[in-house]
Amino acid sequence: APTLLEVNNLNIDYYAANGAVHAVRDVSFSLKRGEILGLAGESGCGKSTLAFGIARLLRPPAVIAGGEVLYYPRKQPEDELRAARRNRKQRQFAEGSSFDILQLTPKQLQAFRWNELAIVFQSAMNALNPVMTVGRQITDVLETHRPDMTAQQRQERAAELFKMVGIAPDRLKSYPHELSGGMRQRAVIAIALALNPELIIMDEPTTALDVVVQREILELISKICKETSTALIFITHDLSLLIELADRIAIMYAGKMIERSTSQAIYQQSRHPYSYGLLNSFPTLHGPRRKMVGIPGSPPDLRALPAGCPFHARCPFAFEACTTVQPQLSVVDASQPDQQVACHLYDQTYTQQLPTVATLA
Ligand code: SF4
Ligand code: MG
Repeated sequence: APTLLEVNNLNIDYYAANGAVHAVRDVSFSLKRGEILGLAGESGCGKSTLAFGIARLLRPPAVIAGGEVLYYPRKQPEDELRAARRNRKQRQFAEGSSFDILQLTPKQLQAFRWNELAIVFQSAMNALNPVMTVGRQITDVLETHRPDMTAQQRQERAAELFKMVGIAPDRLKSYPHELSGGMRQRAVIAIALALNPELIIMDEPTTALDVVVQREILELISKICKETSTALIFITHDLSLLIELADRIAIMYAGKMIERSTSQAIYQQSRHPYSYGLLNSFPTLHGPRRKMVGIPGSPPDLRALPAGCPFHARCPFAFEACTTVQPQLSVVDASQPDQQVACHLYDQTYTQQLPTVATLA
C-alpha cells in the first residue's frame, strides 16, 4: 500500500519555568494507507504528545522544536475534484503530492481535520455534547462539512454510521446520558468516521471502560479500519492488546522510539530490553497468563536526560557504552528488515568487547 504519513525527525518540547522538557525526541516513522500502527509505552513516554503533534493539537507551552509530518493525499477522481472546487470545505488536497501538516494554515487545517484525519482522545466520552442527541451531533458535522448533502442524506448517513459501530439507528435520538459508556464511545467513533477520514488517531480511548468493553471497542475500530482501508494510529500502554490488533508496533521510551516492528515479530521476539519488560509485564488475553514481571525503577527526568541510552539506569543488561553513547534505531537482523531496535546489545562494535553477550532469548 502507498505511504499515507511520514514523520521525520519530529521534536516536541514543553517549556517550563525550570527548563525545556523534551517530550518527543527525534521521532521518525511512516504509515501506509489502511495500516494499523500501535504506539506503546508507559505514561509520560511522549506517545500522546506525538499524537497531538501530528494532529496539530499542541497547545502552549508545548512547541514543535523541529521536524516534519508529511501527508500524502489520495489522488481524487475528476468528478470529486470538481465537487471539491465547488465546495471549498471538502477535500482540497487534490494535487496528489505530499505536504507538511505542520505548515498548514488554520483554514487548511480545518479542512484537513475531519476530512483526512479524525481524532478520538482519552476524554472522548466527555466530548459529546450533553444537551444534544447523538444523532444531531453527527448530522451537525455533516452539515458543516458537506453542505451539499440534503437533510435526508445526512439522516441516512448517520444511521449508516451507527450501524457500522453496532448501535441500533433508533438510538440516534438518544442523549449521551441515556447511553452506556461503551455506546457513548461507539457514538464518538461514529462521529470520527462521519466524513470518511483516511487516518484515525485514537489515544487510549477506552481507559474508562471495563476490560471486556475495551476489547470490543478496539476490535470494532480495527475491523472498521480494515474494511474501509482507513489507517489507524492506536495509542495505549497495553502492548498485549496491540499485538493482537495492530499490523505494526512502535514502542517509545523517554520521548524516543526505541523499537518498531511488525506485531508478530514483537510478540515472537521483542529485542529491546524495555519492550521485553513491557511485554512480560502484561497478561496476555489468550493462553496462559504470563507472570507480571514489570520493570523496576522509573523513566528519566525529561528535563535532565542522562547521557547514553535513556533506559540504562533500569536496564539489567546495561554496560559501559550504554552510559555514554546514545543508541539509534537500526536493523538488527537482516532477515527482518522491518524490525528496528535502538540498543547496543545488537551492535557488534560494543558486544565484541563484552566478556559475555547478554541475550533476551
Ligand atoms: Fe540496555 Fe544498553 Fe540496550 Fe540501553 S543500550 S537497552 S542500557 S543494553
Ligand atoms: Mg497519554
